[in-house]
Amino acid sequence: MSIVRVALDVPLSTLFDYTVDEAVVVGRRVIVPFRRRQMVGVVMECVANSEVAVERIKPVLQALHDSAPISANLLQLLQFCSDYYHYPIGQTVLSALPARLRSDKPITIKPVLHYRLTGAAPHIDFLPKRKAVARCIVETLSVQSCSLVQLKVISTTAGAQLKWLEQEGWVEQFEALAMPQRLSVASHTFANAHQLTDEQQLVVDAVTQSAGFGCFLLHGITGSGKTEVYVHLMDYVLQRGGQVLLLVPEINLTPQLEAYFLSRFPDASLVSLHSGLSENERLKNWQQAQTGTAQIVLGTRLSVFAELPKLALIIVDEEHDSSFKQQDGLRYSARDVAIFRASQSSVPIVLGSATPSLESYHNARTGRYRLLKLTGRAQADARLPTVNCININQTVMTEGISEKLLREVGQRIERGEQSLLFINRRGYAPVLMCTECGWLSDCKNCAGKMVLHLKDQRLRCHHCGYQLRVPTACPGCGHAELLPIGSGTQRVESVLQVRFPDARILRVDRDSTKNKRAWQTMREQIHANEVDILVGTQMLAKGHDFPALTLVGVLNPDSALYSSDFRAAEKLFAQLMQVAGRAGRADKPGEVMIQTAFPDHPLFRCLQSHDFEGWAASQLAERQMAGFPPFVFQVMLRAEGMIEAEVYAYLNQARKTAIELKYPVEILGVVPASLARRANHVRAQLLIQADTRRELQQFLRAWRPVLDSLPTQKLRCSLDVDPLEF
Ligand code: ADP
Ligand code: ZN
Ligand code: ZN
Repeated sequence: MSIVRVALDVPLSTLFDYTVDEAVVVGRRVIVPFRRRQMVGVVMECVANSEVAVERIKPVLQALHDSAPISANLLQLLQFCSDYYHYPIGQTVLSALPARLRSDKPITIKPVLHYRLTGAAPHIDFLPKRKAVARCIVETLSVQSCSLVQLKVISTTAGAQLKWLEQEGWVEQFEALAMPQRLSVASHTFANAHQLTDEQQLVVDAVTQSAGFGCFLLHGITGSGKTEVYVHLMDYVLQRGGQVLLLVPEINLTPQLEAYFLSRFPDASLVSLHSGLSENERLKNWQQAQTGTAQIVLGTRLSVFAELPKLALIIVDEEHDSSFKQQDGLRYSARDVAIFRASQSSVPIVLGSATPSLESYHNARTGRYRLLKLTGRAQADARLPTVNCININQTVMTEGISEKLLREVGQRIERGEQSLLFINRRGYAPVLMCTECGWLSDCKNCAGKMVLHLKDQRLRCHHCGYQLRVPTACPGCGHAELLPIGSGTQRVESVLQVRFPDARILRVDRDSTKNKRAWQTMREQIHANEVDILVGTQMLAKGHDFPALTLVGVLNPDSALYSSDFRAAEKLFAQLMQVAGRAGRADKPGEVMIQTAFPDHPLFRCLQSHDFEGWAASQLAERQMAGFPPFVFQVMLRAEGMIEAEVYAYLNQARKTAIELKYPVEILGVVPASLARRANHVRAQLLIQADTRRELQQFLRAWRPVLDSLPTQKLRCSLDVDPLEF
């Protein structure tokens, strides 16, 4: 009989000892009794002795052999995360696994239904021209069999077309039990490779020639061909039989990206890992990564915890994107964990962005990362858009849109080109006000305002979801006139409708894309040039290529210039660079117009000259003066609860214990969170910072046991290392 130490999904920073009869290896999942329940845990260590008295140690109920054990490498990575983010080891380990591996039901995988061509299928040339989707399906299936999900990437109507093809007897379904094994080295196809530009070649060479670990920051302007660099790097790795991990932000782009990379590596095995997958798909993909079958793993932040026995390269695209940071539970930054992982596996990592985070940029400037640049657009005829400001104090405005911008939109419609109006607020107006007594549409549960949604006559809180019918008279004084203040996407849409009654206007925000397929349909409409004006939030800023788009209007960016969040300006700059990158990507030059009260602000000046470097230098200088990251390292203790006094008592007590430890850290005051009340919970926070990561970690190691011993009543508390949200 021996003893194993098991990680369990409980909020305690310890492992739990159990006895086993059979030989159980580290990384094996086991079912154990825990407080009158059964739980699945992961064996972290096998030991000879326990500190617990032998008679009190319970036996493991079952060792699960339905999946390969978790590798020592991954467990080591998770141990690092648990230590660094000060999150219980058991919860860290279990939260990294696909849900199916966390449940105590043994896993059985249902076969996936695939489609393939039958012998009777005609050549694509014999299909009617108007059946474009069906033709596309037949073409795809002639290369390899596909699941419905894969085919739906072609079009939303793929399902109906498949039915038709089946009825004709040209396509059939079959159970794709095992995924095709494509382990052969150097036999993949690399399709449509461009001849790299000199700049691109230098980047590829720098990465492929580096031996072992190296962190590269690839700073390339939009359209400079970063993706082309990625695929060339992937090709290099695939030729040598390695696996590539490509991390992308949490955006509704993953199916398109998957299709894109498949088109470049048509016979490579590529799997995706993101929260949109079903539990079975996620498990299947995870296991393909684990066995080394998957050559390319494309995923959002959670995929940084995929098992990759042949990992040879990590790429983090849009490395500045804040969705790489998880905002609850294990509050990890997938980018930072990826860097640790690359160093652990002695492989290179490439962080790519047109607007690197100031943290990464600073590291590159100071030599910790290697800076690689792409300064020109990859296609010779593609030009960067011109950027101009419209001073909103010196022009006629119609409900938040300047006359000048409206005229420009009108000209685009005449020329058959598309315009995009970018406003980072959904709904009609961010607040409703009484002109008589000054009543405002406050949320009764939150410190925020209720947003007016005119379409369905509702006031909605975007923080807690609380909603009301729009009152017909002021709830304060009974006055009949209530005034919408400010603009959201719906209001912009209706102003445009009045001004351009014949224009085809498409609104893209979280409300209009609630339905899963909606966004896909919209993309098709935009590409088919069935849209004249796009009105949208940041959803539209990222990574889409709209060839007919030549004008981008930015409606109200100013609030970020005086935000209390010191990263607001950095985010705005990145966002505007990105929306600007949407304009004029094909042969037509693009134009960006920014409506602002501060046209001379350095942020807009740098945007105009496409000067990321100048902007970053000025921001870094400000951060250094003010003592903000990346010049200090921070941890945030947050607490929220129903009773204000309890929240503050806890944080003040925590602060006192931190001071008593006398470590070289700066302990700030306890302050309300930026949204001081949400869903009836009072929220407050305590920020602590140190000059180095090491000092901060030393302090945290001493502070954590003290914190764990403080009574928290019914409070929700969390530690956030390297916080992004303030
Ligand atoms: P980024 O990701 O940096 O914004 P992309 O990778 O999307 O840029 O490239 C922009 C466009 O340039 C794409 O249409 C791509 O096919 C094209 N492109 C990239 N590299 C080359 C090259 N070496 N020669 C010609 N076209 C290229
Ligand atoms: Zn009133
Ligand atoms: Zn609310």
